[in-house]
Amino acid sequence: MAGSETLTAARWMHPELDRCVHCGLCLSACPTYRVLGREADSPRGRIYQMIQVAHGNLPLSASVIRHLDLCVACRGCESACPSGVRYGELIEHARTLIEQTSVRPTFVRLARRLALRHLVLSPVMLRSAARLLWVYQRAGCRTVVRKARLLPSKLALADQFAPEIEPPSFYRYYGQTLPAQGTRRGRVAFFAGCVANVACASLNRATVRVLRRLGYDVWIPARQTCCGALHAHAGLREDAQKLARQNVDVFLAEPCDAIVSNAAGCGAALKSYADWLASDPVYVGKAKVFVQMVRDVTEFLDATGVNGQLRPLKVRVTYQDPCHLAHVQKLREAPRRLLRAVPGLELREMLHADLCCGSGGIYSLLEPSMSLEILRRKMEEVNETGAEWVVTANTGCWVQLKAGVRLFGRGQRVLHVVEVLDEACRAGGEVSGGL
Ligand code: SF4
Ligand code: SF4
Repeated sequence: MAGSETLTAARWMHPELDRCVHCGLCLSACPTYRVLGREADSPRGRIYQMIQVAHGNLPLSASVIRHLDLCVACRGCESACPSGVRYGELIEHARTLIEQTSVRPTFVRLARRLALRHLVLSPVMLRSAARLLWVYQRAGCRTVVRKARLLPSKLALADQFAPEIEPPSFYRYYGQTLPAQGTRRGRVAFFAGCVANVACASLNRATVRVLRRLGYDVWIPARQTCCGALHAHAGLREDAQKLARQNVDVFLAEPCDAIVSNAAGCGAALKSYADWLASDPVYVGKAKVFVQMVRDVTEFLDATGVNGQLRPLKVRVTYQDPCHLAHVQKLREAPRRLLRAVPGLELREMLHADLCCGSGGIYSLLEPSMSLEILRRKMEEVNETGAEWVVTANTGCWVQLKAGVRLFGRGQRVLHVVEVLDEACRAGGEVSGGL
């Protein structure tokens, strides 16, 4: 091998690669392996390919990149692995190196960078894109486009996953502190996400309502930005670090008891800031303080308590574990305890509740065909429970499962855990302030 190629291969070395003993116990936890049944699309197979590239035995070919691209980065394999391989670090490392080499077509690289460096970071662009999507969805254009099959096949598939836009956006609450209702218990900061401000505005409002009803002033910092998870997953590590620094500065600027997120993927990223900024002497200390304050909303409410404030809901629900809540934040019981705290609610477990639904950040848009098949299988298991509501705890899964019900479901409602609590809290009366 030429010297520069050896150097390039050596950059693929990662201590986690050595920890894999190739036992294969992770295979059945992998959604892409379950669909394709191919070793190369399993966690063990992907790790093997990374090792071969690192040792210079395999070129970084289009085929290797394809197998790595198909990974949803759900990290279900981490929960299944008895050797404790931190696969999430491996796939992020691999994607960073792929991004740094010029192996992707220029158009694809530019489109990804435009979306991640401009669209998701700009409230103006996100609001404009949401307005266009809203017109497309509500003015009958979508029906015409679908009937006439005007979209190319991959775009037509991705169109199935587009969230239903519900104006107004959540950005209007930025910079406000909305007061607690009833006995005040404290003050929390709310992390609102990026795309969620336009795609999940009603969910964000429900989250704030519940926190206020349970006695918390809710501060929504104006200069907060995207958590950086999408950038880290796409291999844009420096971009992710830059966003982390901004959020650390913004959220530590005022005192609060916790930084609350209703998105498992964002929460997992926020909790990783100390690792992301470990080599930054100016920020590592502040990042550690920040991480100590981050709570998923289910984690926060489970710890602070909701009992005695919920009216009965006579409904059968099933719960889908978001990957980044179950496999990364290790929160499986808190959301279930909150659901069981609602009088009259019956929780029916589905098979493989912690198996990915195919959402994966922007995975459903990048790999719509695989995402759709993963979702179809998920919905079969949802349908088998006979539940009337499908409940989850992540914005991405919330959007994905709504598409799942539209395409393969039986008319179930899809809610976030906090929306179930919101319905159960209604007996307490409406809160003021436009929420
Ligand atoms: S990642 Fe873990 S479970 Fe999977 S093959 Fe390697 S050691 Fe076994
Ligand atoms: S992260 Fe998910 S999709 Fe990727 S290898 Fe692991 S289990 Fe499979």
